[in-house]
Amino acid sequence: MFAEIIIPLALPKTYTYAVPAHLLEQVIPGVRVEVVFGKQKKYAGVVKSVFAEKPQGFEPKPIQNVLDAEPVVHEAQLELWKWIADYYLCSEGEVMAAALPTHFKLSSETILMFNEEYGDDFSGLDDEEYLVAEGLLLKKELKLEEVQEILDAAHVYPVVKRLIEKKVCLAWESLKDKYVPKRDTFVRLHPQYGNEEKLGELLNKWKEKAPKQLELLLAYLHLSHTDSPVKQTELLKKAGATSAQLKGLVEKNILVTEKLSVDRIRYLPREVNIDFTLSDQQDAALGAIKGILKEKPVCLLHGVTSSGKTQVYIRLIEEQIMSGNQVLYLLPEIALTAQVIRRLQHHFGGYIGIYHSKFNPNERVEIWNKVKTGETKVILGARSALFLPFENLGLIIVDEEQDSSYKQQDPAPRYHARDAAIYYASRLGAKVLLGSATPSLESYFNAQSGKYGLVEMNERFGGIQMPAIEILDTREPGKKQQQRVMISPSLLTAMEETIQSGKQVILFQNRRGYSPYMICSTCGFIPHCDNCDVTLTYHKLLHRLQCHYCGSSYPRPLVCAACGSSTWMEKNFGTEKIEEELHLVMPDARVARMDIDTVKGKTAHDSLIQIFEQQRLDILVGTQMVVKGLDFDHVNLVGILDADGLLSFADFRVYERAFQLMEQVSGRAGRKEKQGRVIIQTTNPKHPVLDFVLHHDFKGFYQFEIEARKQFHYPPFSRLLLITFKHKLKEKAEAAAHFVANSLARVLGPYIIGPAEPVVNRVKTLYLVEILLKLPKDGNVNAYARHLLHQQMAILQNDKAFRSVIIQPNADPI
Ligand SMILES: [Zn+2]
Ligand SMILES: [Zn+2]
Repeated sequence: MFAEIIIPLALPKTYTYAVPAHLLEQVIPGVRVEVVFGKQKKYAGVVKSVFAEKPQGFEPKPIQNVLDAEPVVHEAQLELWKWIADYYLCSEGEVMAAALPTHFKLSSETILMFNEEYGDDFSGLDDEEYLVAEGLLLKKELKLEEVQEILDAAHVYPVVKRLIEKKVCLAWESLKDKYVPKRDTFVRLHPQYGNEEKLGELLNKWKEKAPKQLELLLAYLHLSHTDSPVKQTELLKKAGATSAQLKGLVEKNILVTEKLSVDRIRYLPREVNIDFTLSDQQDAALGAIKGILKEKPVCLLHGVTSSGKTQVYIRLIEEQIMSGNQVLYLLPEIALTAQVIRRLQHHFGGYIGIYHSKFNPNERVEIWNKVKTGETKVILGARSALFLPFENLGLIIVDEEQDSSYKQQDPAPRYHARDAAIYYASRLGAKVLLGSATPSLESYFNAQSGKYGLVEMNERFGGIQMPAIEILDTREPGKKQQQRVMISPSLLTAMEETIQSGKQVILFQNRRGYSPYMICSTCGFIPHCDNCDVTLTYHKLLHRLQCHYCGSSYPRPLVCAACGSSTWMEKNFGTEKIEEELHLVMPDARVARMDIDTVKGKTAHDSLIQIFEQQRLDILVGTQMVVKGLDFDHVNLVGILDADGLLSFADFRVYERAFQLMEQVSGRAGRKEKQGRVIIQTTNPKHPVLDFVLHHDFKGFYQFEIEARKQFHYPPFSRLLLITFKHKLKEKAEAAAHFVANSLARVLGPYIIGPAEPVVNRVKTLYLVEILLKLPKDGNVNAYARHLLHQQMAILQNDKAFRSVIIQPNADPI
C-alpha cells in the first residue's frame, strides 16, 4: 500500500510514501507519520489518502513511524485544506503549516525547549523519555538531531511526541519566535478560610494589631471579587502595602502566594448563564435569524453600533449548546480583548475556549484536543480558529465580517477566513451568521440579491440616539496651500467641555509615528527607505526614521543628503505627534496613546483598555486599534483628525474602508445614557462619503458605491486575482510577469490588466511587478484561470533564468 502525505512546507504537491506491512493498520487519513524528505530531513506529515496502486517512475520511500493512534485532523478538515490550496493558489503543505499548532508539526528543524513548569520529577517517564528529559533539564534546549543522538534513531518522533504530550517540553519551529512563559506571582486565600463563616471569624477576632495587614486582607477580598486570582503587584499597590507585610499574612497561613503563567487558561464551571432579557428589537432579530437559517446557509445581521448584536449572538450560542452543537465565534485578532473574553466567559463559563496566535503552544494543543472531543462547545477565536477539529459544528458567527484582518496577507495561505468559513460550513452542514455595523459591499450585495438572508437592527440599545456628527472645515480662508490642521480650536473646546463634564475623549488618526515624512525645506528632498520605495516616518521618541514596510530604522539626518541644508519640515502628523501636542495644549489632561508602538504584546493592549475603562485617562489617541470591539461607557466625544488621509488612498476600496472606519470609530461615542458627539476634521467638507457618514446612511453609501463598482467591474461584480512578481532586478521581475501575461493572454486576454508596477514598487530590496486578473463571476473561468496559472508558475520554476523570481498569487486581494 501507498500513502499520499502532506508535508508542512511550500512544496508544489503532496508526496507518495510506501506503507510498511507492520504499519498497514495504523496508516489512515488524518494521522501523522514520520517521513524522510530529501536527503536527511525528517518531518511529521499528515496522511491524506491511502491507495494500492504503485506510483510510476520512482521507488517510494517507506513511512518511518506512525505518531498518532487516531487522526489529529478529520477528513472534512483535509477537504478544507484542499479547497483553500486550490482557491487561494498555494500548497496543502502551506495550509497545514498554518492550520496545525506548532506541537503537531515536528521536523528536523524543530527545537525542544524544557518546560520549567514540569519540574525535575521524572518518575512518570519511561526509560527513553527519561534520557531525553535529562538532556533537556541539563541543556534547556535540544534540536531534534540531538535527541536522535541520545536515542536509538529508529523511533525518535514517537518519544518526542509523548514528551510533548506529558508537557515535559515545548516544540519550537525556530529560535526566533521562542515562547517565554510570562509568569507572575498571584495571591489567594489559604484554603482554611475557604468558607465565609471561617473568614468572618477571622475578621471578627482581628484586634488592633497589625492594621496594615488587615487593610491588605480587605484589599485582597475586594479585588478577588472582581477577578479571581489577584496579582501580587496589583494587591500591594491597591493596599499601599509592602511585600514584608504580605509575607506576614502568608506566614500566618491566611494568604498563599504562587507563581503562575499569566496566560494560563482558567478552568471555569461548564454552565450557561443568561442574565439579561432581549429588547424588542433584539428579540425580533433573533427570531428572524433563526427563521432565515432554516432556509439559507448564510444570514447577514446588519446592526448599527451599540444595537446589541452580541446579546443576539449569545442567545443563538445558548441554543446551539443546548442542542449539543459546537459554535465557532470569529473575531478580528485585534478585537479579541480581555473585555470580550470576560464577557463571553461570564455567560458560557467552561464551555468556551479561546484560540489565537498569542497563546502558548501547550494551550493551543489543549484547546485543539478539547474541541476534538467535543468538550469545548464554543470557540472564540481569530481566523486560525477555523482550522480546529470540530466534531459537530452547528453555527459559525463571523463578527465584524467586513474586517480586512480576516484575510491573511503573508505568508501563504492568503485565505479569507470569512469566505473559507462559508465554504466549510456548507461542507459540514453548519450555518453562518455574519455580523457588522458596516457590512462589506460583497456581503451586503449577496444579501440584496437574496443569496444570504438579511436582518437589520437600526436602533441603538436602550434607545440611545446615534452620535451627532459634525464636519469641521479646517481650510483657512485665503490660503492656497493647505497644511493639515492637527487639532482645530473648536475641537479643542469640545474636548475641554467633555473632560470637564467627567467624560472621556477618543482621538482617531490612522497613522502612527510622529510625522509621516520629512522634507528638506531648501530643496524638497524627502528621505526614503534604502530597501523600499517608501518615505520614512519620523518617530520622535526613538529619534529615528522608520520604514513601516520593512521595519528598517535610520538615524534622523542632520543635513539633507541632496543639498546639505540642515532645515527640515515635518509633514502631516501621526499619533505620537498628537500625543505631544496634547501635553502642550491640555497639560492637565491624562492622555495615552494606543498603536502598535505603545502596545507591544497582548497584555499591554488589555491593560491600556482597562485603565481607560476605569476612567484613569481622559483622552485616548489611537490608530484603528481603538475602533475594534471595544465598549467604553464614558466616551462622549470622538475626534477624527484627518478624514482627508482616509479618503485618499489609491485603491478601489478606499471609500468603503473610509466609511467603515469613520462609522465604527463614531460608534465609540455615547454608548450609554447620553447621545455622543463626533467631530470630523477635513479640508474637503463636500466629499460625498462624508455626507453619508454625517447621516449614518449605510444604505445610501451602498447605493453610491455599488454603482461605481458595477461601472468599473470591481467586486462584487468580478473576482480579482493578483499575481505579484518579485526580484532584486527590476528587469527580471518584469520579464517573468510579461511571460506569464502573454501565456495567459491567449485565453484570458480581456481580463488581464498589466503587467504594471504597483504604487510602492520596491519592498525589502525586491522590485515588484503585478498582473491583475479581473475575472467574471463564473466558476469555470475561475477554475481555468487557476489551472493555467499553476502551469505557468511551474514552467517558470523549472526555467533557470526565472527560478529566482518569487511569484505570489493572491485571490480576492485586499
Ligand atoms: Zn535639501
Ligand atoms: Zn523599507
